[in-house]
Parts: sequence; C-alpha cells; structure tokens
Amino acid sequence: MTALLLLNAHPGDQHKLQLELQPILPSWKIRTVPYTPQLAEILLREEAPVIIISDGSPSIDTLKLLQLVKTYCLQTSIIMWCEYTSVEAAVAALKQGACDYIQRSDNNYLMLAASIQHEIAVQYDAVIQPLLANPHNQADEALLALELAQVRMQFLATASNMLTVSLDYSTTLLHLCELCLHYIADICAIYIRDTPNRGHWEIIRAHDPIKQTVMEQVLNEYPPELAPNNIIYQALSTGRATYLPEVNYQVLEASAIDERQLELYNKLDVRSCVAVPLQMHEQLHGLLFCATDKHNRAYTPEDLRLFQELGQRASLAIENAHLYETEQQARQIAEEARSQMNMLVEASDILSSSLKSEAISQQLIALIAQRLSDVCLLVVVDQNRIELCSISQHPKVAHISPELLEERIAREIVDSSSMIGRVMSTGEPLAIDNRDSFDHSFGVPLSDLCDFQTFLCVPLISSNGVIGLFLLMDSEANHFSGSEVLVVEELARRTAMAFDNARLYAEAQQAIKARDQFISIASHELKTPLTSLMGYISMLKRRLGNSDQISPADQKALRVIDAQASRLNSLISVLLDLSRHQQGRLSLSLSAIDLRLLTQQVVDEIEPTLSRHQLVLRLPNEAIWIEGDLLRLEQVFQNLIQNAIKYSPQGGIVEVSLQSQTGYAEICIKDQGIGIPSDSLPHLFMRFYRADNATSTQISGMGLGLFIVREIMHLHKGEVSVESVEGEGSSFHLKLPLLERPNYIEA
Ligand code: ADP
Repeated sequence: MTALLLLNAHPGDQHKLQLELQPILPSWKIRTVPYTPQLAEILLREEAPVIIISDGSPSIDTLKLLQLVKTYCLQTSIIMWCEYTSVEAAVAALKQGACDYIQRSDNNYLMLAASIQHEIAVQYDAVIQPLLANPHNQADEALLALELAQVRMQFLATASNMLTVSLDYSTTLLHLCELCLHYIADICAIYIRDTPNRGHWEIIRAHDPIKQTVMEQVLNEYPPELAPNNIIYQALSTGRATYLPEVNYQVLEASAIDERQLELYNKLDVRSCVAVPLQMHEQLHGLLFCATDKHNRAYTPEDLRLFQELGQRASLAIENAHLYETEQQARQIAEEARSQMNMLVEASDILSSSLKSEAISQQLIALIAQRLSDVCLLVVVDQNRIELCSISQHPKVAHISPELLEERIAREIVDSSSMIGRVMSTGEPLAIDNRDSFDHSFGVPLSDLCDFQTFLCVPLISSNGVIGLFLLMDSEANHFSGSEVLVVEELARRTAMAFDNARLYAEAQQAIKARDQFISIASHELKTPLTSLMGYISMLKRRLGNSDQISPADQKALRVIDAQASRLNSLISVLLDLSRHQQGRLSLSLSAIDLRLLTQQVVDEIEPTLSRHQLVLRLPNEAIWIEGDLLRLEQVFQNLIQNAIKYSPQGGIVEVSLQSQTGYAEICIKDQGIGIPSDSLPHLFMRFYRADNATSTQISGMGLGLFIVREIMHLHKGEVSVESVEGEGSSFHLKLPLLERPNYIEA
C-alpha cells in the first residue's frame, strides 16, 4: 500500500489527521514522521508518492523543510497543510515546488483528501500519457505494453486492497467508484439490481461537476430498460462486459432514443466507455459503468479485460458485503429477540413476585418504560371503575397529578371516540405511529396533557373480558416495530393472568377469613348450650341409669343421646381448637407425665367400645417421663387411635407401642386399614384435608384432627409423621423429647 508521510505535524494534529484521513483514504498507509536528522534516510526509504508538510513545530522553517524534501523526493507531490499567514507565504511554498497549500485551521480534511487523490491521478497520467501519446517504434511499444501491464497489475492490487478494506456495502461501492475515478475513468456509475427486472443507480460520479449533473440526468431519466441500444442495457441483458473504444456522433445517435438523450450524451462528450456486469454465481448484482472524456484516451481490449477482472473482484466484495449485512441483520434480530425474551422473563419474575396488583404494577411499568418507550401507563378497571392507574416517571408527565390522570383516564375509557375507549370496547390493540400525520379518526390519549408522537395501546384481557390496558407513549415517530408490539401483547396477556390470579387470591383470602370467623363464632356459641346439655344428660344417667322405672327402650335412647352429645362435643372441641390456633391461643399447661401410664389409660378407655377391632399394646417395663400437657397428649393419642379404628372399617388389629430412644420417646399407632394414597401423604396434616379414599369410602370426618395433632406436637417440641401403603394400612409415629430433670419428676 502507498505511504503518505505527514511531516512536522503537531502530535495532536498528527493523530487528528490520521483519524480523519484514514476513513476517506482507507487503502493508504499514513505515516507521521517527526523532524529528525535521519529524515533524508526515511524519505529515500519510504518513496512516498505524496508528502504533507505541516507547520506544527514553530521552531522549524516549513519552507526549508520543503526544499529538503524536494531535494530527496523529486517525483513526490508535496502538499502544505499550514496556517495561512500571508499570500506571499503560500506563493513562496508553491514556487518552491509544493503542489497545493491548504489552510490547516479550516480542518477541511475532505479538501486535503481530494488534493491527495488529485496528485495520485496526476502522477498516474504523467506515467501513462506520454507512453500512450508517443509510441515511436516497436521497442517503445513493447516497453509501453510492459509499463501498462505493470500499471494494470498495480491497479488491480490496489483495487483488491481497497475492496477488502470495508465490509460495509455502501462503502465498498464508494471505494470501487473512487478507484476507477483515480486510475482509469473520468465518469463512473454503479447500478444495483433490486429485483430481477428493476434496479437503481446507487452512485454516479464524475471529475467534472457539470458532467456529473448531466450524467445523473441521463441515467435517472433513461433507465437501462428504456434505452436498449446502449451498452448498459446490453451488458445487463447479456451478462457480458461491453465497451465502446471510440464514441463518436454516429455511435451516440444510434444509442439515444430521443433528441433529449442525444443532447445529454453530447454534453458528456465521452470518448470511450465500458459497462461491466457485477455478477457472482450466475446472479447479477448490478453493473459498473466507466467512461473517459480525455481526447487522447481510448479503452483497449486490455482495458476491457482489466475492467472484467475488476468487475469480478468487485462482485466478490459486494457479495461479501451483502452476506455480512445479512448476517449483521440476523444478528441484530437475534439480539433484539434475546433482549425481548429477557424482558419477558424479568416481567414474569415481577408478576410472580407478589399477588398484590399495586406492588407489581409500579415495577412492571418501570421495566416497560426502561426498555420499550418513554412512558408506560397501566390501567386496571372493574366495570368501568378505575381500580389501578399507574404511570411511569418521565419529565413530560411529571406535572400530571395522580388525581388528574385518573380523572382523564376515567373519561377516556368510556368514550369510544378516544383511542383508550376504542381499545377497551373492542379488545383489540391500536397504534398511532405519528401524531402529526394521524388522521384523527379517534382521539389521541391525554392529548392536551402531554406531547408524544407514537402511541401503542394494548388491552389486558382476562377470563372476565377486558380488565384494563397498557398505553405506551414515545416522543419519536414510528417508534414501535412489529416485534415490540408482539412483546407488549405478550406482556399484556401475562399481566392480565397475574391480575386474575391476584383477584382470585384476594377473593380466596376473603373467603378463608369469613370461614374462620364463622368457625370461631359457631364453635363458641355451640359450646355453651352443649355443655349444659351434657351436664343434664349425665345427671339423668346417674339418676335413672340403673333404675327399674325406665324401660330398656328408654335406657337405649338415653345411651344414644349421651353418645351423640359426646360426639358433638368432640367435634366442637376440634373447631374450638382450630379457632384458638388461628388466634394464637392454643397453649399448653405443662407437667411431668409418665407416657406409659397415659398410653395404658387411653387404650383402656377405648378398648371396651370395640367389637371388630383388637387393640394390641406394647409398653416398656419402666416409666417414660416427658414434660407435657396431659389433656392435650391424651387428645393426640385418642385422635390417632380413633383414626386407626375408623379407617379400618373391616376391623383388624390396631397396635399401639411405646418405647424410649436416645433423648426421646416414640409412640407408634399401626393399623391394617384402608391406608393412604401416596400423593395424599404430603398434604395429610393440612387443615380440612381429607384423602380421596376416605371420602370415597364414606368415612365421615372434618379433616381437622391431624392438623391439631401436629400443632400440639409442635407445642411439645415433638413431631408426628406417617408411613402408609394404600390398601395395606398406616403407621403414625409420635416423637416427644424425654424429660431430663429427675428432681422435678420426684417432686
Ligand atoms: P378426619 O379423620 O376427620 O377426616 P383427620 O385430620 O384426623 O380428619 O385425618 C385427615 C385425613 O387423613 C383423613 O380424612 C384420612 O383421609 C386420613 N387418615 C388419617 N388417619 C388415617 C388412617 N389411620 N388410615 C387412613 N387414612 C387416615
């Protein structure tokens, strides 16, 4: 690659020059060289075609530097990039051999680049033109052919470098055009095929600005397909490079389709031209058109081959740029999809973080506003009454008070001529891409309160219909793309579902509260009359139980009344326990208890009532002491043994065993009953829970006993667990910590 040397530039200036020039001249190697005693050596070694001398260091005389450079680099073009102190200074520099003088403080890098390109073109012409003009004899011609071949090789090498500098499609085409203008053409245009039959002129350039305008007219007014006689159409239709070595009036007349086109052709005054299709793998991407207006220049068959070679390299570069662009687009789409997916995940996290609508709404609108638009508004309604109305923070809505916002939304929701009202009534999303060009078939949301350009309104649809909406507003017109709309719709779906859940949860909480209140009131209210009823029953039993005055039938009735009243009492006791637990009032009255004695007592009480079951009791030889509430533990044993009996409807053995382990006592109640389905085991100790096989075998119960058992065990710092196989029986295990203080026991 050709080197450009920047001499004597101020360090900051050097850096800036390199930064600015490199993108304009991507194929040039730009080197900065400070003023050193070895300067001559560097100049000789680098053989730079262009040197830029700056006046960065005030201690160095730029004119002297110019003279020095001229001494060593006779063929080099020197451009002065200096402060314009006076006309005389500039003239002096030009007289000393500088080819251009550009005012440094104007920072006109484009002008500097143009000057560099001009110098390169001049140098090229200086080599080629004399050879073209004076081929004296065969030896000279052979030399000329060799020179030209070298120049062409160099041109192609530069072309390859230049075309691979950028993967950007437009930059690649620009490089191709620049290259042709610098080396081989005075007019250059690039045509790009958009569809198999249509295309457009992407670049039209000429050295001469007037000819550039004419060229633009002729190419844009007469698309290739309208002018079938010219070489552009021919190259496009045949896919082969075509050229006109000598363009004269007859050729132009034959190519033009009307007077105007001929007139424009004449203004261009082209001498020779070439059209090269840009194609890759049989696919036509476009065409490169080049022309020269130099009277002594005519394209030759070698030039045509050069253009064909260039066309192939350019096509490859264009295809690479295309592939890169496609890949970049795919990457961008994938990136967008990834970020939208992340956003949906974040939104789902927020939605599942709480069952309270207010808590999630603020986080949600903040997330949407952060990722998708300037402002996000969330409205939830219940039968046209606003339940929730939150707007994200933004300077443009900071002046709107919550009351004013709510009042405005309430009005728009019921007004079907407003965007919000329309979305609420139809349940369909609506977007306004540009408020200024919007046809106003319905009202812009909050139009007089804030000034936004784009609006996207998406309904929240739950099982009960439209329950609210998201309104996204942005200051930029056409802000929302198709994929963003889909994301907001998905967000709206998830939000509606979350709000539905929140509503159901609130209703369930309400129902549970009502049930607990009922249980509490009912159990307390029933307990008092029942206690007095039971008092009278036991009095009657005592008085009449063994008397002859009462018939056997009445005695049986009395027993039934007594049994049913006891059953009712135990049911109410359980409900009372539940209510106490809910109010945190389930407490223990502790004393030292011998579990062996307690177990024996409970079994003794139950045994006489059994007919089909056999109670087997396994007790240790020694007493087992624990600290506990006697009545509550009796309740626990009763409950578990009664369950073992109740859930063994076919009868069988119920085994009750007690043993002491290290640190704790273990009681096990084992039956041979219906057992418990494995999927019910984890829920067994929850209140009101009953296993399916209990209900299907119509064994009555409330599902509260085990819940109370577990609470009592927890209060005793003990635990209850269960093992069961459905159809084979169950074992309930109780563990209670042993009492460690014998003194207390003796006392
Ligand atoms: P209830 O017996 O009043 O339904 P519990 O709280 O005592 O309530 O028991 C909860 C559930 O556990 C019962 O409904 C039953 O499904 C199951 N269950 C309890 N004990 C046994 C057992 N010994 N055998 C089989 N199932 C049992």
